[in-house]
Amino acid sequence: MAYLTIDAKAANTYDAIVIGSGISGGWAAKELTGKGLKTLVLERGRDVKHVTDYPTANMNPWEFEHRGQVPLAVRAQYGKTRSFLREETLHWAIKPDEQPFVEEQPFTWTRGYHVGGKSLLWARQTQRWSEFDFEGPARDGFAVDWPIRYADLAPWYSHVEKFAGISGNKDGLPTLPDGEFLPPIELNCVETHLQGVIAQKYKDRQLIQGRCAHVTKPQPIHTAQGRAQCQHRTLCNRGCPFGGYFSSNASTLPWAEKTGNMTLRPHSVVHSIIYDEKKGKASGVRVVDANTMQMMEFYANIIFVNGSALNSNLILLNSTSSRFPNGLGNDSGLLGKYIAWHNYRGKISAEYDGFQDKTTDGRNPSNGYVPRFRNVYKQETDFLRGYATGVGGGRGMVQNREGMGLELKEHLLNPQLGPWHISGWMQGETVPLEKNHVRLDPNLKDKYGIPQLITSAGWAENDDKMVKDWMEQFTEMFTLAGFKNVKAVDTHSNPGSDIHEMGGVRMGKDPKTSLLNKWNQLHHCKNVFVTDGACMTSTSTQNPSLTYMAFTARAADYAVKEMKRKNL
Ligand SMILES: Cc1cc2nc3c(=O)[nH]c(=O)nc-3n(C[C@H](O)[C@H](O)[C@H](O)COP(=O)(O)OP(=O)(O)OC[C@H]3O[C@@H](n4cnc5c(N)ncnc54)[C@H](O)[C@@H]3O)c2cc1C
Ligand code: SF4
Repeated sequence: MAYLTIDAKAANTYDAIVIGSGISGGWAAKELTGKGLKTLVLERGRDVKHVTDYPTANMNPWEFEHRGQVPLAVRAQYGKTRSFLREETLHWAIKPDEQPFVEEQPFTWTRGYHVGGKSLLWARQTQRWSEFDFEGPARDGFAVDWPIRYADLAPWYSHVEKFAGISGNKDGLPTLPDGEFLPPIELNCVETHLQGVIAQKYKDRQLIQGRCAHVTKPQPIHTAQGRAQCQHRTLCNRGCPFGGYFSSNASTLPWAEKTGNMTLRPHSVVHSIIYDEKKGKASGVRVVDANTMQMMEFYANIIFVNGSALNSNLILLNSTSSRFPNGLGNDSGLLGKYIAWHNYRGKISAEYDGFQDKTTDGRNPSNGYVPRFRNVYKQETDFLRGYATGVGGGRGMVQNREGMGLELKEHLLNPQLGPWHISGWMQGETVPLEKNHVRLDPNLKDKYGIPQLITSAGWAENDDKMVKDWMEQFTEMFTLAGFKNVKAVDTHSNPGSDIHEMGGVRMGKDPKTSLLNKWNQLHHCKNVFVTDGACMTSTSTQNPSLTYMAFTARAADYAVKEMKRKNL
């Protein structure tokens, strides 16, 4: 590698570097630039500008050459990568050769490699963690105790909720703290029916309106971002020209851009973090330019690692030095271990004969939600922790395909409203286990010369028992509601299918049993902060991304204060 002159080095030097521009990286960029730091945001994928780079956002179904399907020949190029292969969202999919990895045990790893990351793909469900979630590990002794409690994060939840725009109802539930809500999105009649039955039959269970990152009533802070009210088109994962839902592209990144302090560098694949042995801290990052394949270096006083959970593990594992031969900050030897996720194996569906005179008016980009009710106040089942559940109902048009000739034509041209259907999907907490881990392959590398990640994570007996209980409980609730054809299944889906992978760089009080302190700061390399899913000590039953946002804003605030105190 060529040596940099002093001038070249200065040109590549910033106050802060953020690795990744997805949900957590976007927040790091917004907070750090907002506090005056010249910040370089490194993103491995291409640039995606809000509105102009959403090519299918306003297309009608008949405008797609293959009516939404992806031809088999094209599909084959994506290998077994489950990348939402629909014609309207194909532009977000990545091909396997972009980043092959080794599945020691089957693992579904969904990635979004472009500016905005998975913030353009997500389902936008956003719930706060409760006190019970942060207390979980301390209560049952699995994983280590969190170094913080709900009260530490509560003001930061408020901070990010106000800016992102979260719709929801103040339900007053101890298991699901209320937030700074915009008006909730209504449930439809079949969901409301189930809500009523659950409220009547159970003291400890509720079905609530899903809390989600949609601007249902724009506030001045949202219009200042250029975002408008959600139109309920439910075409969100094409990219939303209204900025109706929260994404880095519609919200945090343009806000950071406006400060004049952000430099966004797409096509920049971070290889590793550079550790300065003399200074005893990180000095910058090594990057492979995806267009030229050239290795480059960038320098900064503060580094935020936000590549999404498994990538952040990969980057730290690949950041070796004499001081840290096993990965940056890895004195405990636990880097890459205690990977956990959410258990999405349970699914249930049913039909309802009632409400024949009703249909839905408009579309619902959200769904209903049943917060955790298992093992909340005491251990009451033969498995640890619990599960939350998404619930959604609807009524579609069905075509009678019987008959011949004119009769068949008449049937096809006159579809009728079908029965109401309703479904539920489990979101269970998996208990982090040391044996569930990621590590680097000693031989295999990707096209950028970066070691391939080995994923080694599998289901435990606790997960099996939880799925069984979930299926029983939801079969009971659906049956009590008078639903017909109730079918509950254990899909045995791969770990990672939830797309909520977490852990590997967990937070904790003791540097011997954790990597990060209560400020998301590496215990042994204080100017490196990890605030995406990698930092999670346990997984709770809530969707995770709102918590990553809150952690990121809190850590950025601390980092800037520490920098001003000259501690970094
Ligand atoms: C279909 C779907 C539905 C989902 N629904 C929900 C939901 O309802 N609620 C919820 O809370 N979560 C949901 N999620 C998960 C949510 O998207 C993630 O939790 C969230 O995006 C994680 O944020 P992040 O910043 O860690 O990673 P990402 O948003 O994935 O961003 C990471 C960024 O880092 C970049 N990057 C990675 N490696 C490098 C590198 N080496 N160098 C430079 N850049 C790099 C990537 O290209 C990417 O842009 C869903 C995800 C999907 C796909
Ligand atoms: S439903 Fe709302 S957020 Fe989704 S695409 Fe439509 S306007 Fe945008």
